[in-house]
Amino acid sequence: MLHDFSYAAPTAREELFSTLARHGKTAEVLSGGTDLLVNIRAGISTPLHVVDLKGVAELAELGFDATEGLSIGACVTVTRLLDDASVRKNYPLLIRAASELATHQLRNRATIVGNIVTASPCGDMSSPLLCYGADVEMASAAGTRRLPLQEFITGVKQTVIQPGEIVQRIIVPTTFCGGTGNYLKLKRIKGHDLGVVAVAMLRYGKKIRVAIGSAAPTPVLLPEFPSDATAETIKEAARAAISPIDDVRCTREYRSFMVEEFIDRLLKEVRA
Ligand SMILES: Cc1cc2nc3c(=O)[nH]c(=O)nc-3n(C[C@H](O)[C@H](O)[C@H](O)COP(=O)(O)OP(=O)(O)OC[C@H]3O[C@@H](n4cnc5c(N)ncnc54)[C@H](O)[C@@H]3O)c2cc1C
Repeated sequence: MLHDFSYAAPTAREELFSTLARHGKTAEVLSGGTDLLVNIRAGISTPLHVVDLKGVAELAELGFDATEGLSIGACVTVTRLLDDASVRKNYPLLIRAASELATHQLRNRATIVGNIVTASPCGDMSSPLLCYGADVEMASAAGTRRLPLQEFITGVKQTVIQPGEIVQRIIVPTTFCGGTGNYLKLKRIKGHDLGVVAVAMLRYGKKIRVAIGSAAPTPVLLPEFPSDATAETIKEAARAAISPIDDVRCTREYRSFMVEEFIDRLLKEVRA
């Protein structure tokens, strides 16, 4: 049975932040609800107050600017990102990963920001965003702060976010626009499934950037490589950075094996 909670849907930022400040730790923010509502139903999450972000229009903004880069507002859904021409042109890795996230129905609700805040090691959007050097901008009644994504996620489903605070947007700089790459996700079935392990690789000029999901408590960004780095160099760095586990979906050994297999495949692709 569901426990009782209040529901608020503020339409202005001030109202949103004062509501969150008033409820503190007892409130949870609702965006697409594809994680939160599942967790409430399962009794994993028991907020006394649910505060919906979708009424605040500016949180739904998605825009690209040649100076700042891509700004993905808190309520931008995966489908909206997939449909955006500037994302398709400048950030192909985001498109690849977003197309791997769940199903059409889920993507119509699920947000990119919600995926990052959930901070699941198998979240599909973290690795490509790490490759692009994304920042996370948080806001509360006290003001705003900005952190690189790798500092925002601190552990399995853990982030630096504080009670009363939201992620208002993700900013993806233009530094690596025009780079080529791909996102490979191992699943147990051919259709939709959560990632067993995933690797994102981006080649930009003389640099290669690699990020790995589902192989450590947090998504892992490897140190940058020169574009002529050998596969063995990248695999060695990956071995040092990951700490895969055995679970119902896969063994530790198979996860490690597939990370290296994906590095081989991706390296061939970005050099073709
Ligand atoms: C059937 C199913 C299949 C799925 N498959 C995949 C998959 O293949 N790949 C994958 O990566 N994920 C998958 N997911 C997980 C989920 O869809 C994503 O994590 C989604 O992106 C979360 O976004 P949301 O807007 O629905 O978040 P919500 O459920 O609204 O929120 C999730 C959490 O983040 C918090 N939150 C949300 N937005 C903010 C914000 N702006 N500021 C602060 N806190 C916030 C909420 O309080 C809550 O704790 C699946 C989920 C389901 C139910």
